[in-house]
Amino acid sequence: MKGFAMLKIGEVGWIEKERPACGPLDAICKPLAIAICTSDVHTVWEGAVGDRHNMILGHEGCAEVVEVGSLVKDFKPGDKVLVPAITPDWNSLEAQSGYSMHSGGMLAGWKFSNFKDGLDSEYFHVNDADGNLAHMPEGMSLEDACMLSDMVPTGFHGVELADIQFGDTVLVIGIGPVGLMSVAGAHMRGASRILAVGTRPKCVEIAKKYGADEFISYKNGSIEDQVMALTDGKGVDRVVIAGGTVETFESAVKSLKPGGKIGNVNYLGSGDYITIPRVEWGVGMGHKQINGGLMPGGRLRMEKLGSLVSSGKLDVSMLSTHVFHGWEHIPEALQLMKDKPADLIKPVVIL
Ligand code: NDP
Ligand code: ZN
Repeated sequence: MKGFAMLKIGEVGWIEKERPACGPLDAICKPLAIAICTSDVHTVWEGAVGDRHNMILGHEGCAEVVEVGSLVKDFKPGDKVLVPAITPDWNSLEAQSGYSMHSGGMLAGWKFSNFKDGLDSEYFHVNDADGNLAHMPEGMSLEDACMLSDMVPTGFHGVELADIQFGDTVLVIGIGPVGLMSVAGAHMRGASRILAVGTRPKCVEIAKKYGADEFISYKNGSIEDQVMALTDGKGVDRVVIAGGTVETFESAVKSLKPGGKIGNVNYLGSGDYITIPRVEWGVGMGHKQINGGLMPGGRLRMEKLGSLVSSGKLDVSMLSTHVFHGWEHIPEALQLMKDKPADLIKPVVIL
């Protein structure tokens, strides 16, 4: 089978591989559509998860089941499915302790295009099919289904990690597709005021539709100074970080009120340390919590988030700004994600 792969750090291309084998709990699927992620850019060009050789890329998409193992109960060949980016081993001790995303080790629930071949391939393998796949809601577009793999669950996980409460003033740093979903999630969770950091006009326009009230440009001086100016020097209750660099944590801590919480879902592709400012962290006693996490993955979350989209309560159609048709466009879509033109939010390839 053919697949579009990371050949080594900084190099991608088409390769031929054996079709994966199906274990008793597994499924083999063929993708119907795939989306490209900023994480692919970190993985390929920054080597952020380490060197990978001939690893098929892709962890976002929707698919048709072509084969299931003898112990799979709820899926059969021909079913159309949502595929989460994170596919934990649900029997692991880590999953039992509440950290499914780390089943088998740090970040090891993230298997596609990290520890095994991903979705940009004629066929791909899904472990623990009953626990990880979800039936695609009737009538859902392929583009919307692709947004449920990673953008919705990750953006919303940032909101969970920041523990947003009714009436909170929230700062969302980064309004690419992940941050846009954090804005939408913060709005749904009852934030009274959402300040958003980002500059691309298309993202600003869509962030307003999802509930952002005011905008801050990280290019116009420090984020914290602008936050303080907008909040009478008080700061915000919660921060979701969905963009920026290792240095962004310093701004996030400085922007928070005492007792505030930070939820980070940004993938820190480079840099060795994050710095926490001593004084603004209350000289160690400010009750400012920093939580960073990978979204948990799995079927239940996909079904619940899928029902938010199919019920019309969450409109993700605005995210798929560049839609291609045909396998041959995968390299172009990945390059687009690397270049990030001003009008891009997400590239999707319908196969
Ligand atoms: P984008 O690159 O599309 O968006 C990044 C956003 O951050 C933009 O709004 C950008 O502003 C803003 N930004 C850039 N530099 C800075 C800075 N120095 N300070 C503050 N804001 C800045 O990314 P995505 O939305 O696609 O993804 C966001 C992050 O989430 C990525 O690192 C991605 O890898 C990660 N991710 C994490 C996952 C997880 O499970 N934890 C899963 C999926 C993605 P501008 O408008 O100027 O471009
Ligand atoms: Zn992704």
